[in-house]
Amino acid sequence: MTSHVKAYRAAILHSIADPALVGDAQSYEYFEDGVLVVDNGQVAKIGHAKDLLPTLKGVDVTEYRDALITPGFIDTHIHYPQTGMIAAYGEQLLDWLNTYTFPTEKQFADPAHAADVANIFLKELLRNGTTTALVFASVHKQSVDAFFEASQALNLRMIAGKVMMDRNAPDYLTDTAQSSYDDSKELIERWHGKARLHYAVTPRFAPTSTPEQLTAAGKLLAEYDDLYMHTHLSENLDEIAWVKSLFPEQKGYLDVYDHFQLLSERSMFAHGVHLCDEECQRLAETGSAVSHCPTSNLFLGSGLFNLKQAEQFGVNVGLGTDVGAGTSFSMLQTLNEAYKVQQLQRNKLSPFKSLYLATLGGAQALRLDDRIGSFASGNDADFIVLDYHATPLLSYRLQQAKNLEEKLFVLMTIGDDRAVQETFAAGQSVHKR
Ligand SMILES: [Zn+2]
Repeated sequence: MTSHVKAYRAAILHSIADPALVGDAQSYEYFEDGVLVVDNGQVAKIGHAKDLLPTLKGVDVTEYRDALITPGFIDTHIHYPQTGMIAAYGEQLLDWLNTYTFPTEKQFADPAHAADVANIFLKELLRNGTTTALVFASVHKQSVDAFFEASQALNLRMIAGKVMMDRNAPDYLTDTAQSSYDDSKELIERWHGKARLHYAVTPRFAPTSTPEQLTAAGKLLAEYDDLYMHTHLSENLDEIAWVKSLFPEQKGYLDVYDHFQLLSERSMFAHGVHLCDEECQRLAETGSAVSHCPTSNLFLGSGLFNLKQAEQFGVNVGLGTDVGAGTSFSMLQTLNEAYKVQQLQRNKLSPFKSLYLATLGGAQALRLDDRIGSFASGNDADFIVLDYHATPLLSYRLQQAKNLEEKLFVLMTIGDDRAVQETFAAGQSVHKR
């Protein structure tokens, strides 16, 4: 083997299927003493140390004791301009946007500010073990340039787009249907498909776009291959009533997006807290996905996401932190809250389903499961090392754990950024605690 091959020895775990379809036991692969072999930034293979080590003569093997290697986390909904306003007190969605969000996003007209925040944001993602995210920028095209420049410098797989917003927001933060089309197009030409970057057409949500702007968004999606569409849907009851009054000719919220041809296999709708069965059916038949953002839904008092309903209809679901309405960059802490959201509805969220949501499920929802989300050979070597001794409590509690399921659940309940010992993107170390 040549010098671009590297190997990592620890316990290794990854999802291979949705537990809702195959059951927990068939949904993962686990190697108690495993080796991950990386060749030129890609996964070559994984297996038991006793089988693989003899084949790795001359290869540099990094060993982590009492640690678990998993694929990097995939955050399917987050806003990078809101990094500096996480934990803003006292409001529900619509007042929260006016009071905190819009004034904060105004600052991203300044490219230097955008670059600073993009770097802080990416560092925070990597500290928390998130290697891919679907990201809202601000309405300013320079905010997207800043984000993609910083992502490219670290060779990360990231998806982002310029917010399209031409009504019901302050003048300093609105574009027009035409300028949003032109600016998005320029950014698509500059960034989509470059290195590991993808572009998402990003109308903020139906209330802040005119029918003309939503038409422009649909036109962009029709003009390029493999573009994403990223927006919000049915988060808050006042929001849903507002959409109804703005688009009285449409039956429901999802019908608005459907009317403008914004539903496809690469469409991601954040929240979907208050969906009817018909809407779930339509999301499933168009291959569209929903981001479950539990910390945000609790923080803004929006409601409880019905994961069982989504599973019944076969809707693709990813897990989002939704910072800055979400209260943590940590996908482990987001899973902790996701478990509680299901408990309040008398549903059980198993640790293997949680692992799936944070890795392979997100990749499948984003149609990137042939690149990320598992250790299938040929995938990007985006992975993390979780430390069983990260805190005294975690260490002590894990000593009592009888099996993998219990260990995993403890990690997801009391683990956070401190548990992430090292993060790798395309085989390169991009964060070391
Ligand atoms: Zn959001």
